[in-house]
Amino acid sequence: MLIDSHAHLDMPHFDTDRDAVIARAREVGVAAILTLGVDGASSQRAVALAQQYEGVFAAVGIHPHEAQHATPEDYKVLMGLARERETNRIIAWGEIGLDYHYDHSPRDVQRREFRRQIRMARELDLPVCIHSREAHDDVLTILDEEHAIDAGVVMHCFSGDELVARRCLDLGFYISFAGPVTFTNARKLPTVVPLVPDARLLIETDAPYLSPHPWRGREHRNEPARVAIIAARLAELKGTSV
Ligand SMILES: [Zn+2]
Ligand SMILES: [Zn+2]
Repeated sequence: MLIDSHAHLDMPHFDTDRDAVIARAREVGVAAILTLGVDGASSQRAVALAQQYEGVFAAVGIHPHEAQHATPEDYKVLMGLARERETNRIIAWGEIGLDYHYDHSPRDVQRREFRRQIRMARELDLPVCIHSREAHDDVLTILDEEHAIDAGVVMHCFSGDELVARRCLDLGFYISFAGPVTFTNARKLPTVVPLVPDARLLIETDAPYLSPHPWRGREHRNEPARVAIIAARLAELKGTSV
């Protein structure tokens, strides 16, 4: 049994064949898929998909790219959905975090909305799914200061080095690996994987993004079935079976 701990099934990339995409995932043993919101509307779509498809669960949240567009109304909607977590099949808050690579929202706004959402997740006792791109120091500082560990923390699509990984593990976080761990030019990640104990290890596709090798570049759209490729690569790096 495999779990894709991070995907975006609501994206328009899947509009023409979503049923087939989810069926293919089941065929390779993917028993559960967590689909995450990136803004108010996609969070609502994530909840709708979780109700529509067996084995699909939802997370709601505002991505750092969208931080500057988040309104009080958005948060009211997300909190309302998350308070009905059982009915809405919501099991996490995210994705949230900081992205200093693209800087689609100003950094101070990203940090403010990140803190705000960690507090909401703690209030609701929902684990947080963290996006951290070229912002590891600030992400870890804020997660620590806001006591995010009380609710649980997953570092999604981990992109740090050994030092960052050790800090995350010391703080009690889970570490999730995506397609980049399979890239033939991956340098840091293969040395990070063996450091992460199985009990703290998650896998994900981040579909429709980040197709693993050998699809990187050739076929742009990723899908949850390919989480099996991530699992196989991690097993190889850990010298064990899937
Ligand atoms: Zn992300
Ligand atoms: Zn994502």
